[in-house]
Amino acid sequence: MPIDPTLPYDDANIFAKILRGEIPSAKVYEDDWAFAFEDINPQAEVHTLVVPKGRYVSWDDFSAKASDAEIGGFIRAVGEVARMKGLVEPGYRLMANIGAHGGQEVPHLHVHIFGGEPLGPMIWKR
Ligand code: AMP
Repeated sequence: MPIDPTLPYDDANIFAKILRGEIPSAKVYEDDWAFAFEDINPQAEVHTLVVPKGRYVSWDDFSAKASDAEIGGFIRAVGEVARMKGLVEPGYRLMANIGAHGGQEVPHLHVHIFGGEPLGPMIWKR
């Protein structure tokens, strides 16, 4: 079920539990600003999620309310994970789903990193 990105942050969401270490994840990277782990249901050869450590529901919430340091730290972490995965030379794709039309299911901002193979068209066409 897609989430409503205008609702307040819910500390019971699954990525909040991963950040608190309450449920396991396949950790890839961590720094002061971000945590990265493998998607449990990969849609490409490489499918890694990067989340900010702060309590932000979506890209909308984050871009409106996060500090410059949080935003800078998070963006740098996404790039670092892609470099760690060797994705720069072959190329990769970033995706952040927001709300119902975006198909967002987890109400904690996450950027998907896809790669490891040609990824096909940018978006589903009718
Ligand atoms: P989105 O539709 O953008 O909200 O994406 C949510 C993503 O989280 C999906 O790709 C799920 O496969 C992934 N996911 C859900 N639960 C977990 C989990 N416990 N560990 C890793 N990935 C998860």
